[in-house]
Amino acid sequence: MTDIQIDAAFDSGNIEVLSVVGSTARLAIRQDHHSEFRQWFHFRLSGQAGQEVELNIEQMESTAYPRGWPGYNARVSEDREYWGVAATSYDAKENGGTLTIRYTPASDIAYFAYFAPYSMERHHDLIAECAASQGVTYQRIGTTLDGQPLDYVRLGEGETQVWLYARQHPGETQAEWWMEGALECLTDESDTLARELRRRCTFHIVPNCNPDGSRRGHLRTNAVGANLNREWLDPSDDRAPEVKAILAKMDETGVHFAMDVHGDEAIPAVFLAGYEGIPDLTEEHIGQFNRYEAILERRTPDFQTRLGYPKTPAGKGNLGMSTNHVAHRYGCPAMTLEMPYKDNQDAPDAEQNWSPERCKILGRDCLAALLEFLAG
Ligand code: ZN
Repeated sequence: MTDIQIDAAFDSGNIEVLSVVGSTARLAIRQDHHSEFRQWFHFRLSGQAGQEVELNIEQMESTAYPRGWPGYNARVSEDREYWGVAATSYDAKENGGTLTIRYTPASDIAYFAYFAPYSMERHHDLIAECAASQGVTYQRIGTTLDGQPLDYVRLGEGETQVWLYARQHPGETQAEWWMEGALECLTDESDTLARELRRRCTFHIVPNCNPDGSRRGHLRTNAVGANLNREWLDPSDDRAPEVKAILAKMDETGVHFAMDVHGDEAIPAVFLAGYEGIPDLTEEHIGQFNRYEAILERRTPDFQTRLGYPKTPAGKGNLGMSTNHVAHRYGCPAMTLEMPYKDNQDAPDAEQNWSPERCKILGRDCLAALLEFLAG
């Protein structure tokens, strides 16, 4: 029997091969460049149609979020379109924490990832399609440290300035799947929800805030190891040009409502985080967040408010984080949307767990909630 082969030298790939014997591999996740974060994995397996393989990813207790592994299932695809789950177990005691994936591929190639990948190639498809859509203005608002374009699209004619931006943390690919759903809705000429939103609002959208981390296969940082969602207070050209460009554009347009889209490693649910810790917060200001959250909870069973982050004490909000920064700087409702890597415990799906398809539907649901919020 020949050994299986494992590759990750492609767009958003990440794995180190420690050893391979027959159909069993010992693997480890590479750190983000210039950073200690590691959690995202994405690799290709070849050479074993019809035979069960065992993939052991080691040293998981020292990843960024070890609580992300118990109760988690790795995603697998053989056609790179449909992503399902592979049988996965976790042993915190074995080799520094070992995630074991067992899978029998039907064909000679199978891809495994932390969550369904959203490649930079797919990103360029999304941007080109948007740019070609009726009523959409495209702008390249910056350049990343790896020399990639930072892409922004604008649509709508209304006075309410709505900002949607995603993937500051590149391994949170849920966020760009959400964007794909939101953009498909907003650019659909026959969609009455989109028509009404475009009449009331101007949308400013950055579907991927961190192209370098995305292509490099990072979890959380850009090309120089900066966690962009901690850089909003004073973003610099050599550390966070992505944030600097977005903030400059926000200053130009103004912001009346902002949503920053993410994924959360440990919590098996969809939830929002707000800005309760910012200085000089008023009841009226935080009341806007609470009202949007309540509307979204009523509109979709995929969203809930029981599970989430602990509330930040008054005045302790970190203004380096975009939600706090934007809420404080513009005095508007702003929020961080979190989607799971684990299954959604309120609405489980044994075949896929939380999936790109669900992210896209949630994108539309969040827009529907926005229309109700604005109309209320
Ligand atoms: Zn995040």
